[in-house]
Amino acid sequence: ALALALRKFTGEPTVADSVVSSDAVELVLSDFGAKVSFIKQTSAETEKMGRTTPRYLQKYTPEVWASFPLRPPIVTVMGHVDHGKTTLLDALRNSNVASSERGGITQNIGAFSVSLSNGSMVTFLDTPGHEAFAAMRACGTQVTDIVVLVVAANDGVMPQTLEAVNHARNANVPIIVAINKVDISGCSPEKVMNDLYSYAGIQVEQIGGDVQCVLVSALKRQGLENLIDAILLQAELSDLRANTKDPGEAICIESKVSKGLGSVANCIVRWGSFHVQDFVASGRSWGRIRRMLDDRGKSISVAGPSTPFTLVGLKDLVDPGGLVCAMKDEAEAKSYAEKLDSDMYLKKLQQTALQVSLQRAAAKLKSQEASTPESADSPHSKKRLSFVIKADVRGSIDAVLECIHKMKSEETDVEVVHSGVGAVTDSDIFLAASSGASVLAFNCKVPSNVIQHAKHNGVSIRQYSIIYELLDDIQSLQEGKFEPST
Ligand code: GDP
Repeated sequence: ALALALRKFTGEPTVADSVVSSDAVELVLSDFGAKVSFIKQTSAETEKMGRTTPRYLQKYTPEVWASFPLRPPIVTVMGHVDHGKTTLLDALRNSNVASSERGGITQNIGAFSVSLSNGSMVTFLDTPGHEAFAAMRACGTQVTDIVVLVVAANDGVMPQTLEAVNHARNANVPIIVAINKVDISGCSPEKVMNDLYSYAGIQVEQIGGDVQCVLVSALKRQGLENLIDAILLQAELSDLRANTKDPGEAICIESKVSKGLGSVANCIVRWGSFHVQDFVASGRSWGRIRRMLDDRGKSISVAGPSTPFTLVGLKDLVDPGGLVCAMKDEAEAKSYAEKLDSDMYLKKLQQTALQVSLQRAAAKLKSQEASTPESADSPHSKKRLSFVIKADVRGSIDAVLECIHKMKSEETDVEVVHSGVGAVTDSDIFLAASSGASVLAFNCKVPSNVIQHAKHNGVSIRQYSIIYELLDDIQSLQEGKFEPST
């Protein structure tokens, strides 16, 4: 039924033998009102994947689990725009600097740790909002143990509050509610609590439920200790542990080329410990750790569970969301990278590409339902421009995204199927080809074999080093001066 549905709605007869992610199957079949149940992957298949099944995802017996030390929780702050996520993160970061290392300059590495007087630690992801969270999940990874849901007391429950709740729920991550801006006179935290129950089914402790809820003012730095206490209590309930003695496994949150250091990856340790001189591999990149820096830019020799750190020594950039593993030796690191190249990596690509086309199929189905058959195919129907964006650093991607979103108009729909830091790879071409997208490469390499691959698949790659050129091109695209794909 899935194959038929896809053929009907995408016109692409590519489904029967493809690897389909469970999310994608659910997505398309739900449009038909069908219920989906999944049969678990056989253990033989899991074994074949060998070392590529991370230790942090493996199942442990309760006795073995209890023998691992507790680890700090990793927290993501989510909520509606302007409800105070950034202010709250700044307050938490600065309160820590003030108490422990006055004058210490925090480095922007995508996450930071707050250490408390009793020795416990909490790691916060630095990118507020659910986009980053969703992007991580799209890569099949998750670096969040607890979501702090920020709701402004004066504004109340808003659309993105509910979206954030859904993201957390889908990922099975416990929520702590932080009602912010309680310093504003006349605001009503009680109304927020009741609305959260009515609209999102979240029943906080104050109204008889079991979800923790604290009142804070990020601006006035009030209630932060209560928030940290709530996080630590939830961490205890979640029984977060990791074996510090295993080889390290970390998730990359961002990767860039840094002056004097080469390719660096900002990571959070999920399991085990990394040491300087360890051999590491991630995706198709590998190397030996030359240095590790903490969130204050200080060199460290060991990074244990939940620690955010900058890893120096990888030969290439790493995709955000990618798993970075410590390896036994150089040979293992090299062969891991090569094996992934040919095997798991392709599988993952196919999954992502298919997921994109499935999402498009579902969107198409919805728009067809919404419009009459004539109008759907009429020459006046909206023009759709799709892009895969690659750039040297996250900041450039954000700039390009901003430009692209400005293109949205009544006549034009724009869609970014993928964006990432680093050189354009075969996987980007694969994605672009399967979703009819053009590749925009800003200040990053495009290897010649990738150009060949793109030509072969009819994918256009546009390279830029100056943002104005990109803007000009986008303008021309919008005016229909040239088509997005060759
Ligand atoms: P974000 O979009 O969720 O990251 O929100 P911001 O942190 O940028 O905050 C949006 C606005 O709310 C800014 O003008 C902040 O100064 C203000 N704000 C944040 N927290 C508080 C608070 O506790 N009390 C008051 N009165 N204003 C706040």
